[in-house]
Amino acid sequence: SEALLQVENLKKYYPIKGGKFGKVSEIVRAVDGVSFSVREGETLGIVGESGCGKSTTGRMIMRLIEPTEGKIIFQNRNIMELSKHDMRKARKDIQMIFQDPFASLNPRHTVGHIIEEPMIVHKMGNRKQREARVEELLELVGLSAYHAKRYPHQFSGGQRQRIGIARALAVQPKVIIADEPVSALDVSVQSQVLNLLKDLQKKFNLTYIFIAHDLSVVRHISDRVGVMYLGKLVELSESEILYTDPKHPYTKALLSAVPVPDPDIKTNRIILEGDVPSPAHPPAGCTFHDRCPVAMDICSKERPNFKVLDDGRMISCHLYD
Ligand code: SF4
Ligand code: MG
Repeated sequence: SEALLQVENLKKYYPIKGGKFGKVSEIVRAVDGVSFSVREGETLGIVGESGCGKSTTGRMIMRLIEPTEGKIIFQNRNIMELSKHDMRKARKDIQMIFQDPFASLNPRHTVGHIIEEPMIVHKMGNRKQREARVEELLELVGLSAYHAKRYPHQFSGGQRQRIGIARALAVQPKVIIADEPVSALDVSVQSQVLNLLKDLQKKFNLTYIFIAHDLSVVRHISDRVGVMYLGKLVELSESEILYTDPKHPYTKALLSAVPVPDPDIKTNRIILEGDVPSPAHPPAGCTFHDRCPVAMDICSKERPNFKVLDDGRMISCHLYD
């Protein structure tokens, strides 16, 4: 089906000023030319180590961070070119859930107020209708109407994330960008929140962009997964294909680090040498070459193109030229 949301060649460069004249001394390429599309009702997982640009990508789609370059096409319109009025409407349609539900909930406001606020901002309903909606939303996320009068600190981490989800749903968005929504939670609570997100997706035909640093977290929720390294997507495909037959050496390494529940299954853990290079000084050629266990001569010289393989996966690696 057709793409609901599409990003094209999205970039975020941060100039860093140094020296006594305050000249730009270097440029951090936080996101360096990312393109993907998301279909209505699907979940696209975006995975990579911290600093790879995945959160920045999510925030640029919300325009919480202004892109340096690129297009964000939502419902066939480039939202970079929208008027203020139309951008407000688009903001309503695309909501975000954050990693730290405590930091993102105002501690001085009641939960009821927190969930109601986006409805006030977008002028939805009158007070009575909004209050009824808050109660409905609380129940929808597995809490209770009477929780509306309480404050965020009275809730556990998992409950706070449910409150964050209720707030995101309040304005009936089409797309939810979830930035590591379960990373701060205990493993047992993680699966409850993931199941809740899945149920809500079915109920409301929501489209998710699900950002995580761990491939195992997004496995069961994503229809497709994109892997990012140093500001670029290196592989993107249907989840089944990616998890059973990863092709990019970086994806292979990430997957080999995921613990397997069955100890009889042998995994050859790939240990990557060195640290992720600074996005201010990305290596020439393939930016992964100095850590890649199978790098070839060409890899330090030429940047691999992003290409589509027969199975529909997109990959940038010289092994598949
Ligand atoms: Fe490794 Fe070369 Fe592929 Fe980069 S292009 S991932 S260095 S084989
Ligand atoms: Mg992040």
